Amino acid sequence: MSKFFSSKYSTLEAYVPGEQPKDMKYIKLNTNESPFPPSENALLAAKEEAGKLQLYSDPECTPLVKRMGDVFKIDKECVLMTNGSDEIINFAFMAFCDESHPIVFPDITYGFYPVFAELNHIPYTVIPLKDDFSIDYNDYVGIGKNIIIANPNAPTGMALPLWQIEKIVASNPDNVVIIDEAYVDFGAESAVQLTKKYDNLLVTGTFSKSRSLAGARLGFGIGNKELIADLNTVKYSTNPYNVNRMTMAVGCAVLDDNDYYMNNCKTVMENREYTKNALEKMGFFVLPSFANFVFARHSEISGAELYLELKKRGILIRHFTKEKIKDFNRITIGTKDMMDKLIDTISDILKEKQNENL
Ligand SMILES: *Cc1c(COP(=O)(O)O)cnc(C)c1O
Repeated sequence: MSKFFSSKYSTLEAYVPGEQPKDMKYIKLNTNESPFPPSENALLAAKEEAGKLQLYSDPECTPLVKRMGDVFKIDKECVLMTNGSDEIINFAFMAFCDESHPIVFPDITYGFYPVFAELNHIPYTVIPLKDDFSIDYNDYVGIGKNIIIANPNAPTGMALPLWQIEKIVASNPDNVVIIDEAYVDFGAESAVQLTKKYDNLLVTGTFSKSRSLAGARLGFGIGNKELIADLNTVKYSTNPYNVNRMTMAVGCAVLDDNDYYMNNCKTVMENREYTKNALEKMGFFVLPSFANFVFARHSEISGAELYLELKKRGILIRHFTKEKIKDFNRITIGTKDMMDKLIDTISDILKEKQNENL
């Protein structure tokens, strides 16, 4: 730390992204990216737009917002596009939370929430998951604080039904409820249509997982138009051109090809069930997942050891060191081929371990 670093950040613990090692070619099952490339039209759009990069991007994202309106069946005043959904989540923390408007979220969830709270000096409390790793919606009913919940949750993959989300939103009318739907396209119910009924609901989403654009950085928030106007005030006070030209062009093409991406999600969901079954046959306990990953533990091998053994063999999965979940690993669902390699490799590792113990 330099002597110039502001004391307001001196205790900040930054978010740690999933590792991207370059020493060899890995099968990447650690950051929940799509295993499928963007569609042909998206690639063409990027190429065409590259020739106009001397010009600023459209701060209103006009063509993209129009398509968002069509695909999500909402008014264009009710959506804001951002540089990944991490940006809209930070904007929401900045806009709606402060010393006297604290926020709550589950103890096991997306690691960026406590970081954004610390960054913006927002008091926060965490609520433990139930013993089965699910969120008890009753814990949030009438809590009288701002709330952020990832639905499906990460890294568990478990989801709340829409009626429970609605109870949380309806019972906290004087607080903002943020539902982070980064993984909603893999089988959970979206709360987007509830934004028409409740002025305190903000739904966030991303093109990083279900729409193959993790590297383009495109996210969004959907909510009542006053909420979106507030978020725009924050956006225009930080970075009006937050979505670059190429990403905007690619995002439009992706929404035009929405069926291709939703079909890929179906394939991922099939591969998820296939992987879950195979892991269970090998003795894993696997949480029910509505996301593009599974969260699994095995009684014969620790989470850390399995992670390291797979890494040695060229497969990356995500291990977390938090006490409550250190026995688990989060495994991104890829193509059938990728999952077969994973399953075969884990089977080898378990056999080697059994032989050692003989
Ligand atoms: C991946 C993820 C995001 C954000 O991803 P971006 O790439 O910034 O859009 C947000 N929330 C959760 C729970 C995620 O897993």
